[in-house]
Amino acid sequence: MKAIRRFTVRTVLPESIAPLGRLARNLRWSWHKPTEDLFAALNPHAWEAVHGDPVKLLGSLTREEIQQISQDPEFVARVRALDADLETYLTEPHWYQRTQGPEAPRAIAYFSAEYGITPALPQYSGGLGILAGDHLKTASDMGVPVVGVGLLYQAGYFKQSLSRDGWQQETYPVLDPDELPLTLLREADGTPALITLPLPDGRSLSAQIWRADVGRVPLLLLDSNIRQNDDAARNITDRLYGGGSDHRLQQELLLGLGGIRALRVHSRLTGAAAPEVYHCNEGHAGFLGIERIQELMSPEDGSEPMTWEEALAEVRAATVFTTHTPVPAGIDRFERDQVGHFFSAGLTPAVPLKRILDLGAETYPDGNPGKFNMAVMGLRLAQRANGVAKLHGAVSRSMFHGLWQGFDVDEVPITSITNGVHVPSWIDPLVWDLAVEPQENDLHPAARWRKVYDVPDAELWAVRRVLRERLVRDVRERLRASWKKRGAADAELGWTESVLDPDVLTIGFARRVPTYKRLTLMLRDPARLKRILLDPQRPVQLVVAGKSHPADEMGKRMIQDLVRFTDDPEVRHRIVFLPNYDIAMARVLFPGCDVWLNNPLRPLEACGTSGMKAAINGGLNLSVLDGWWDEMYDGQNGWAIPTADNKASTDERDDVEAAALYELIESHVAPRFYGDGTEAGALAPRHETAPAPDAVPHQWLAMVRHTLATLGPRVSARRMLTDYVQQLYVPACVSGRAAAADDGAAARATAHWIERVREAWPQVRVEHVDAQGVHQEPQIGDELTVSAYVDLGSLTPEDVTVEVGYGRVSETDHIHERSYAVLEPDEPLDGGRQLFSGPITIDRSGPFGYTVRVLPRHAGLASPAELSLVSNAAD
Ligand SMILES: *Cc1c(COP(=O)(O)O)cnc(C)c1O
Repeated sequence: MKAIRRFTVRTVLPESIAPLGRLARNLRWSWHKPTEDLFAALNPHAWEAVHGDPVKLLGSLTREEIQQISQDPEFVARVRALDADLETYLTEPHWYQRTQGPEAPRAIAYFSAEYGITPALPQYSGGLGILAGDHLKTASDMGVPVVGVGLLYQAGYFKQSLSRDGWQQETYPVLDPDELPLTLLREADGTPALITLPLPDGRSLSAQIWRADVGRVPLLLLDSNIRQNDDAARNITDRLYGGGSDHRLQQELLLGLGGIRALRVHSRLTGAAAPEVYHCNEGHAGFLGIERIQELMSPEDGSEPMTWEEALAEVRAATVFTTHTPVPAGIDRFERDQVGHFFSAGLTPAVPLKRILDLGAETYPDGNPGKFNMAVMGLRLAQRANGVAKLHGAVSRSMFHGLWQGFDVDEVPITSITNGVHVPSWIDPLVWDLAVEPQENDLHPAARWRKVYDVPDAELWAVRRVLRERLVRDVRERLRASWKKRGAADAELGWTESVLDPDVLTIGFARRVPTYKRLTLMLRDPARLKRILLDPQRPVQLVVAGKSHPADEMGKRMIQDLVRFTDDPEVRHRIVFLPNYDIAMARVLFPGCDVWLNNPLRPLEACGTSGMKAAINGGLNLSVLDGWWDEMYDGQNGWAIPTADNKASTDERDDVEAAALYELIESHVAPRFYGDGTEAGALAPRHETAPAPDAVPHQWLAMVRHTLATLGPRVSARRMLTDYVQQLYVPACVSGRAAAADDGAAARATAHWIERVREAWPQVRVEHVDAQGVHQEPQIGDELTVSAYVDLGSLTPEDVTVEVGYGRVSETDHIHERSYAVLEPDEPLDGGRQLFSGPITIDRSGPFGYTVRVLPRHAGLASPAELSLVSNAAD
């Protein structure tokens, strides 16, 4: 029988256990073990059946069960205590309240297209979403007043399974929001609060707003699946990264423009402080800046409307943009006409269309004039921008150099903040107890991680084995389930019971499967891989997982190649591919692996976070020096796979790098794990002979300890959030407040100044440069006086900085290791010219050179390169 209507009946909890409702709805349970344990204890069998989802669990309990629980004094007391604990967590001062002053923002809006918070709210595809989830959770733990904004996808991303011959199959189970840990925002009269955007052809797109409570952090999710919309509009939020380009564009319009409106609705209904800083996590949400410009150009509070330039100055001051990918295909680009088509419907009626289109224009040498680039718009709408690891910062500066052509690559105003991971979500409780001091330490956060140095080898080794064994059990279950889906009968699957071995060196590799991550690099020489897996003295086992984007045939072929290799009866007990990599799998996988493998094509991995999650569980990284590993590998916390980026073709490169990977495993990783002490030397005892109780690999454990103690604090998202607050949020708040004060007086003044300077700039020229004090044989310590004759056109000396850049020069006369000195204005000369001069000291030997340039100068600028205006002295 098929139902013709469905609805969800909410569980009514008796008074004595009423707080269970709040405990289930606030996602803090997902990183607070005692709360999670409480739900598991309610009904362990049901808990497993609902895959550890408290809201579903409560919905599955019978009236009798609920009655019974509500009369169990011990249980009631536990509920009360945990509810009190949650209340304290939600209200007491945390790091932000303890350490930040009045210049820190009262609220920060964080926009992301995806959020990976818990399996119970599957709204992510991979690293970007998990990072966003970790950002919110950490903000909550630290008391950083973030409010998240995103979309609620009806089917999230897809579920992956395999066909008999190893081809990825996708399914899209539809989620029922009423069964998710969400609360609908409602108007005072009880009707759902809505935001509405006009669409072309007289259509419109409305969305309701769900709120997820991520500890202290509200996350607002826009949902277009409502009856006020036509079918096409209802489906805008159908799935993550699905559909064609128009579909994607409409999702992003809803996220950016609708997201700002949702924030306003949220503030109106709850009294929440309006954000003072807007953080655009990757380009998808970039339209948020245009909606804010619309607000300023057409204010509803009676203040003086701003011009485009004025509004842009004010919006930029308070906006932070984070770029997440150096892979051009990873950046969203639309047709310029397509964007024009949607905005012509009156999405932001006060904002001139041409201005909007110019924000996304690829105005650099290889740019395509027909395209609208979301990352470029993101950079133009934010005064502060960052990449997500040091190396990625450098790669981004060179990738976007075209927007700041007169400057050296290292001056491009994109900084970096290295990603981190939310430790309580990703560390196994056993490791937490061993390695982390429960008490926070505001001044010396790293001190919390030193405890592991006091843990004896035997104890650390025993915990590592428990984690490995748990992974082995989980793998066996998952593999069996996968094979049944692939059409195997139980009778054929006896072998899955003995897949993997809890005493064998376990290497993990799990991530999305874009080409650059090279899932199949390990298969480069299949015979050699086989020998490594089957080595009688030092066997190795591999656990592999990853989803390919549904439209990526190449990725699917890589998965199939790998699956076929793992299907071989000769090796299938040592290498497995697990379908449907997700948070739930990850939480068993990271702790259970001894080594975490990562072999992207350098430098295409922006940061990577899975290796960080392995590290905080005592896993050692074996990785190409890309992303975070490039800055954190220290020779004792794992291994670096050498990169052959000098090779002409990727094919050659894959050969060389795969060979290096095999060599590292055979000669370094495995010998150390099996504890023979002499890497690449004498043979270890056969692993089949049970190791004596004290036979622990001391050198291996020294690396584990070192990893936990030194990487733990550095890869923690607490470090990341601290960096964001100090380096970006507080400065953006200070700039934003200054710009907005007095009805935007400073923003208006800055905008007029920028207009004046842009107009005058073509006349600005360094006409002549002189230096006094250069001897026949210059020596270190000599002082030169540099004089520059500058034509300022209609500008004044106060509008500019004239500086001399000096240092060591290369054969091509490029100045390296640059220092700068500002030249001061002297008396004006005739003809609008101005003399600037000042001293520099020769501070190094060898080839030395200097040059002079003129830059715009204004208190409203965050970087001298910001306006992309510079006048360099010619030869
Ligand atoms: C951490 C994580 C990722 C991201 O891993 P990368 O190293 O950035 O590729 C993707 N998916 C899941 C489930 C994760 O936990």
